[in-house]
Amino acid sequence: NASIPNAALQSAHAERAANDIAAHLHPFTNLAAHPQVDPLVIERGDGIYVQDDQGRRYLEAMSGLWCVSLGFSNARLAKAGSEALHTLPCYHTFNHRSNAAAIALAEKLIAMAPVPMSKVFFANSGSEANDTAVKLVWYYHNAIGKPAKKKIIARRNAYHGVTVAAASLSGLVPNHRDFDLPIDRILHVDCPHHYRYAEPGETEEAFATRLADALEQRILAEGPDTVGAFIAEPVMGAGGVLVPPATYFEKVQAVLRKYEVLLIADEVICGFCRTGEMFGSTTFGLRPDILTAAKALSSGYVPISAVMVSEQVHAAVAANSGKIGTFGHGFTYSGHPVTAAVALETLRIYEEEKVLAHVQSLAPQFQAGLRRYAGHPHVGEVRGAGLIGAIELAADPATRTPFDPAMKAGARLAELALQEGLIVRAMGDAVAFCPPLIITPAQIDEMFERFDRAMARFEASLA
Ligand code: PMP
Repeated sequence: NASIPNAALQSAHAERAANDIAAHLHPFTNLAAHPQVDPLVIERGDGIYVQDDQGRRYLEAMSGLWCVSLGFSNARLAKAGSEALHTLPCYHTFNHRSNAAAIALAEKLIAMAPVPMSKVFFANSGSEANDTAVKLVWYYHNAIGKPAKKKIIARRNAYHGVTVAAASLSGLVPNHRDFDLPIDRILHVDCPHHYRYAEPGETEEAFATRLADALEQRILAEGPDTVGAFIAEPVMGAGGVLVPPATYFEKVQAVLRKYEVLLIADEVICGFCRTGEMFGSTTFGLRPDILTAAKALSSGYVPISAVMVSEQVHAAVAANSGKIGTFGHGFTYSGHPVTAAVALETLRIYEEEKVLAHVQSLAPQFQAGLRRYAGHPHVGEVRGAGLIGAIELAADPATRTPFDPAMKAGARLAELALQEGLIVRAMGDAVAFCPPLIITPAQIDEMFERFDRAMARFEASLA
């Protein structure tokens, strides 16, 4: 797989790498280390593989950043984007303007939604979608005459994005530290990481009860009249692929209903077949008032996100905007005709090519393949749903003792995988898998064969 680069490719890469270091400020990168780290320059992709500028091929088991659901060479998506660029390369949707692609996409999303939804608002990224959800929660509570009901509860280890409100919702240290975040009115409660935070012997059900009770106590302590919404990813992605313990969302939602707290489902990773249903909300029984989606909405080919709102939310927001004559929120590229056309084609492909059925047929093989690592001497837990999963390393699985963080065990394993031609992602000592949904049974085997080799080298490196 990883062929040896020739001298011409190597020198072209060296120049590119120097230019990258000179000019490019990278997201989520150790900026101090970047000048010493040879950047991986990806040049092209086909199916579930990508190729770097030195000709090395990698099986992309993370779909980029959890998004390239249809793989890297879908001709229908390229054609849809190209046709849209030739027909109407840009137009806006402010002030009653619209375009056919945005209209059809909104209709299709409402038809696919996991619970009845009334309207769809478009943005460009998951962060913008979640910022929009926060603003809608605030606007809604002003509109219904409950202006104090503005606090939003998120969870530690959540990832909801990086714009000011979305970064505040996120519950990860690097998103907050030295950015002076979170902003006020955004609170965090414990995350449902059973392996890490359950008491010894505590069942998933008992752990879920404890978390739901703690949520209720927090709402009571804050004052139910001040709490407007709760936001949750069905499966927490960047926090380590945390699959909710049994009964968690059922119990949490009973608390939310009791205190009239809206539920925002962040489906940015889980949306569109990933967890084995069209939405993670269906897999895990969420009934959101607001749902955000992005990433696989366009198979990651173009930046687009969507915020779906219930009729209850929409009606209040619409009535309020009528009073001042405008709903004062929207992006230049909300409902952009090119991104909407690509997203619409993506959703058509999911239906016409029966991608959900494909995912459901492959999930047992994928999950069983992951779970084979459960008995490994340095694997603490294996978890996942559908075509997403993670392996959490541990220094001593018997006592759930983690590795010394200074060892960077997860990052070390991900680096060894890269050398074996496999892209996985380390989040702490959890190593995530989220392959393109179009992966075949033979390619799942190939993915785990590469990972076996990385694991063997990881083991050897500990000896
Ligand atoms: N929500 C979730 C669950 C995500 O995983 C992400 C991105 N990884 C976001 C929101 C933010 O999306 P974006 O990077 O497009 O702003």
